[in-house]
Amino acid sequence: ERTRPAAATGARVEFRSLRRAFGPTTALDGLDLTAEPGELLALLGPSGCGKTTALRMVAGFEQPDSGEVLVDGEDITRVPANRRDAGMVFQSYSLFPNLTVRDNVSFGMRVRKVPAARRQARAAELLELVGLPRHGDRYPHQLSGGQQQRVALARALALEPRVLLLDEPLSALDAKVRLSLREEIRRLQLSLGITTVFVTHDQEEALSMADRVAVLNAGRLEQCAAPAELYARPATAFVAEFVGTMNRLPGRLADGGLVVVAGQRLPVDGVVPDGPDVDVLVRPENVTAEADAEGAATVVSSSFFGAVTRVHLDLPGGGTVKADLSSRDAADLVPGARASLRLAPQPVLVVPGAAA
Ligand code: ATP
Repeated sequence: ERTRPAAATGARVEFRSLRRAFGPTTALDGLDLTAEPGELLALLGPSGCGKTTALRMVAGFEQPDSGEVLVDGEDITRVPANRRDAGMVFQSYSLFPNLTVRDNVSFGMRVRKVPAARRQARAAELLELVGLPRHGDRYPHQLSGGQQQRVALARALALEPRVLLLDEPLSALDAKVRLSLREEIRRLQLSLGITTVFVTHDQEEALSMADRVAVLNAGRLEQCAAPAELYARPATAFVAEFVGTMNRLPGRLADGGLVVVAGQRLPVDGVVPDGPDVDVLVRPENVTAEADAEGAATVVSSSFFGAVTRVHLDLPGGGTVKADLSSRDAADLVPGARASLRLAPQPVLVVPGAAA
C-alpha cells in the first residue's frame, strides 16, 4: 500500500450560510467559509464565537438549523458522522484507556472491517509517522500528554481521511510540548496534503501554523486571510484588536485624510469613520520611545524579552501605550523615566472613538 499523492489527498470543505441556535444562544449566525484542498485553515476567535460548533458540523456531530456543509462539492449536511471522510482530534486526548496504543490507532479500521494484517501494517506505519514507533504495546496512561495527542492524531489519520479536524488539540499541553507539536502537526499536514480545519483561541498558534486564518466573532466571519495579511491589514477593528497586540490611542480627524495622534499627523488607512474624535490603532512595533527629560510620556514598566523589550508608557492625556523596542534602545527607559514618543510615519487604522 502506498500513500496517496499529496495533490489528490485534500478535499475542499465549504461552510455555506450555516446557522445554529441553542435556545436563546446563536452559535452560528450565517457562516460562509471555504477551506481549499490541502490547506490548513485555522478557526480563531474568543470563547463562544462558534468555532467548535462549525467544526463539529464537518464531523457530523452537530446539525445546522439551516445552511450546508459541502465536501468537494457534495452536500454532506445530512450524512451520518460514521460515513464521513474526516478524522478528528479533540482537546482532551479521548483515547480508549483500556486499549493499547496500537489498538487505539486500529480502532476505526477494525470497525470498518479492515483485515487484521493490513490493520497491523497501517498502525505501525502511522505510529512511525507520529514518532512513536516503539510505543504500540503501551496503554494511554503510560504516555505523556504530548504522546497521547500524537496517538490521537495517528488514530484520526488511520482511515486516510481527506479532511482532518483538530479541536484545540494543543490546549491541554504544556508550553514546550505545545510548540514542538505545532511544528510537527504542520509538517505532517503538509507532507500528507490533507485539508485541515484547526480550531483555536490562541492567535499565536493560528498565525504560526495556518495557511489562512478565519477570525470568527459571535457566530460570524470577520475576516479570512493569510496570517501576514490579517496582521498587517485587519479588515475590522475586532480583527485588529484580536490578532496580535494593538494600541488604541485617542486621535482627532483632520482635513486631507489625516488624523492627529500623540502630537503627530498621520494618513488614515482605509475607511474614515465619523469624527472628529476617533481611536487610532497602532502596533507596538510601530511606536518608538526615547528617554527625554522634556518628554510628555512616562515609563510605567518595561519587560525584557531578549532581543525586544516591551515598554508601557502613560500618555499625558490619559491612556497607555505599548512600544516594542530593540533592547539596546530601551536601556534608559526605566519605570518613572520621562520619554518622548514617535509613531512610525505610515497609514494608520482609525475606528470610532471609544469615548464617543
Ligand atoms: P470555546 O472556545 O469556548 O469552545 P467556541 O468558539 O468553540 O468556544 P462553541 O462551542 O461553538 O464556541 O459555542 C458557541 C455558542 O453556542 C456558545 O455560546 C455555547 O455556549 C453555545 N453552545 C454550544 N453547544 C451547545 C449545546 N450543545 N447546548 C447549548 N449551547 C451550546
